[in-house]
Amino acid sequence: MKNEKLLEIKDLYAQYNTDEDIVYAVNDLSLSLDRGRTLGLVGETGAGKTTTCLSILRLLPERIGEISKGEIIFDGMDILSLSEDEMRKIRGKDIAMIFQDPLSSLNPVYTIGMQIGEVLKYHGIYKDDQAIENRVEEMLDLVGLPKERKNDYPHQFSGGMKQRVVIAMALACEPKLLLADEPTTALDVTIQAQVLKLMNELKERLQTAMILVTHDLGIVAEICDDVAVMYAGSIIEKGRIEDIFEGQVHHPYTVGLFASIPNLKVKTRRLSPIDGLMPDPADLPKGCTFNPRCPHRMEVCKTEEPPCVMIGEEHMVKCHLFASKEGGRP
Ligand code: SF4
Repeated sequence: MKNEKLLEIKDLYAQYNTDEDIVYAVNDLSLSLDRGRTLGLVGETGAGKTTTCLSILRLLPERIGEISKGEIIFDGMDILSLSEDEMRKIRGKDIAMIFQDPLSSLNPVYTIGMQIGEVLKYHGIYKDDQAIENRVEEMLDLVGLPKERKNDYPHQFSGGMKQRVVIAMALACEPKLLLADEPTTALDVTIQAQVLKLMNELKERLQTAMILVTHDLGIVAEICDDVAVMYAGSIIEKGRIEDIFEGQVHHPYTVGLFASIPNLKVKTRRLSPIDGLMPDPADLPKGCTFNPRCPHRMEVCKTEEPPCVMIGEEHMVKCHLFASKEGGRP
């Protein structure tokens, strides 16, 4: 079972067609994930991380969202060629998602027990109501909530507890793949640590593969096996956790991301942010999309898309610096 590929995304393009513009949210994205592994998808707001997850579930907003090219193979199935009925059988059962804001993921007029039970009922995994009830209690126990609280409503829980309920819902059917979209962003730091610990334990116990979307490199270091750094809809660097955190060679954007993290050991008056802003996804720069902000920009960067260069067994960097003989290393 180990190292068996669960998810493979090849050359994916996703866009939003609005009245004013076409927003190119995901551009030529390829990644793969083995069973039981956790991939951290890192990048600034607007990098295309959430759109990537929604594309895997085929949940892009109706009418405006479109996967224009590419392939998503999940557990041997071509996700993009499945019917809507077939997709409904997969969502929640084989692939589940935890959204950023637990409050908007829960229905305020149903008890949390009903909401956890609903996914079990829909997928027909448990035969009768008693079995569903038992499973709901088991899930609450698993996420550290008293089972007696199954009859309470979402507003009766704190933010951290609500996120635990959402995690219980997502894991109730023991999905093969969990998409966690900034699951701790809406929580305060102490609750964040508890929820991360819980997700880590559950991942080990259930052998669930996970894509963890975050802009927090500290969380990535704690929980992930592999890391993919996204910029303007593309993966610009990916590798194993040690390649990204301990390796000496990185994409200039990754270097900038690490430089902008405060270091408690170094006395400084200011942080070092990356100059400039993420480009408008409706009007991406030619060549390398990072070129307007890059301190190592060369002429070729303004016109030609950079190649994906392997600089280690599993460490890829998409940058002209590493392909060019003249180019130095940032
Ligand atoms: Fe910088 Fe050029 Fe590399 Fe882009 S391709 S990151 S502009 S050096």
